[in-house]
Amino acid sequence: MAEKFGSTLLCAPVVEKTVEEMVAEMSAARSQGADVAELRIDHLAAFEMRPDLELLIKNRPLPVLVTYRPKWEGGQYEGDDRKRFEALHLAMELGAEYVDVELKVAREFLHFLSGKRPEGAKLIVSSHNYQFTPSTEELSTLVARIQAVGADIVKIATFAVDICDVARMFQVLVHCQVPMIGLCMGERGVISRILCPKFGGYLTFGTLSAGKESAPGQPTMSDLLDVYRIKQIGVDTKVYGLIGKPVGHSKSPKLHNAVFKAVGLNAVYVPFLTDNLANFLNTYSSPDFTGFSNTMPHKETAVTLCHEVDPVAKSIGAVNTIIRRQTDGKLVGYNTDYTGAISAIEDGIRGLQGHKDGTVSPLAGRLFVVIGAGGAGRALAFGAKYKGARVMIANRTYDRARELADLVGGQALSLTELENFHAEEGAVLANTTSIGMNPNIHDTPLSSKQALSSYAVVFDAIYNPKVTRLMREARECGAALVSGEEMFLRQAMGQFELFTNSSAPSDLMREIIMKST
Ligand code: NAP
Repeated sequence: MAEKFGSTLLCAPVVEKTVEEMVAEMSAARSQGADVAELRIDHLAAFEMRPDLELLIKNRPLPVLVTYRPKWEGGQYEGDDRKRFEALHLAMELGAEYVDVELKVAREFLHFLSGKRPEGAKLIVSSHNYQFTPSTEELSTLVARIQAVGADIVKIATFAVDICDVARMFQVLVHCQVPMIGLCMGERGVISRILCPKFGGYLTFGTLSAGKESAPGQPTMSDLLDVYRIKQIGVDTKVYGLIGKPVGHSKSPKLHNAVFKAVGLNAVYVPFLTDNLANFLNTYSSPDFTGFSNTMPHKETAVTLCHEVDPVAKSIGAVNTIIRRQTDGKLVGYNTDYTGAISAIEDGIRGLQGHKDGTVSPLAGRLFVVIGAGGAGRALAFGAKYKGARVMIANRTYDRARELADLVGGQALSLTELENFHAEEGAVLANTTSIGMNPNIHDTPLSSKQALSSYAVVFDAIYNPKVTRLMREARECGAALVSGEEMFLRQAMGQFELFTNSSAPSDLMREIIMKST
């Protein structure tokens, strides 16, 4: 790694109301792996300058950054600046490693310090914009102004209205000739906090627990260290991630990052909360942004934006994996939802038949009944057709069933007809609706036991709960089961293989999924 100013420091904001609580939080910060604690003394309910700063700084278990943020810059302090300057000066005298002062008053503060600036403490001069992220030119001008007042470290925090705003912050960080903290606030700015070591950021913030943020969008310390392995991120780290909206509750970052770690890949997988897929792909177009999982609501748009699309993904009309081909930078789209689900169902049938011959698909010539005609329904229907199955579609909205059935050359059923349909021997039933999903766990898309018992294999795309009512009743009827969790696992394995061109560590990935709640 070729960091410009050493490796990126991890700083825990300490926003407690009493000095005693702040002391305890500093110890927690140290034991959780923070390099620095930011003492936000503007959060203290009653602040007595000398005794409080002495207590906080003399017994500090790790380096501290002292910040006394006024209301007009997003902090809690409402008094005059002179008292703040005195407190920051005293913090420097007591040995604080860093103090932070706002650009708007930096000149006055330095004037206040003139002739009595203690050695050792580094001065961070900061600028916050809680509304938006300015243009690259404006950010660069801001850096120059902060440098010009005599900052040791430049800090700029802006609000990310769109994830593409963060790219401008990265650009400025990379070119900055002095140590710089450059972060984008808000949920669309999260990648600025995780990826800053790649772009030479001096410091990033991680909270000790959720709810202790000093600015919007800060991840927890444990996510930064354990999930994203921020200490291992460097200039050459490849970036992967999940594009979608929302992305916050996905298991994918935990899964893919754990696998990257296990196989020793210099790569990180991050959440890309994306409003406009085309803008995202155009903005993050460097080869380092190597591969993406792609979820709602961008699966359909991705088909039109990729330079090449796998033929089955094109028929399905959905791309859930985008790879930036390293040889020519072209975007190639795939759909591992269908490969994941179909391969799991094929193995389910093979298990039933007690043979492992993988050359001919056991779906060839078999009846395959899909419930649902949405995104997952299309994936299963086209995937099964591709393997030579005879496909039927049952759906609440009959017209959608008809439309999909016509596309795959099959029959359409209403849900009522499905209740009375007796399938032929060896048939597969695949639920791709959300009927039975948490919290409606007592619902099922097929309640007739008689109809259900005519299927040899029953698949349910739902993975929350892990075992649905449909699966429970299908088991009672003697069918072999294939779970939505297995589909999720296999689509992720498919993505790993496309990301890395190497086979997925399936046992490890299964273990991680099993352990996750
Ligand atoms: P989607 O495009 O919105 O399609 C939803 C389908 O469910 C439609 O056919 C819809 O019928 C039907 N439906 C919804 N609510 C219904 C109800 N109350 N009664 C009857 N039918 C109903 O959604 P999707 O992306 O295909 O996802 C569907 C399910 O698959 C979700 O549970 C999702 O979690 C799961 N999934 C799992 C994985 C995995 O990896 N395991 C991957 C993708 C999806 P209409 O046409 O009549 O509206």
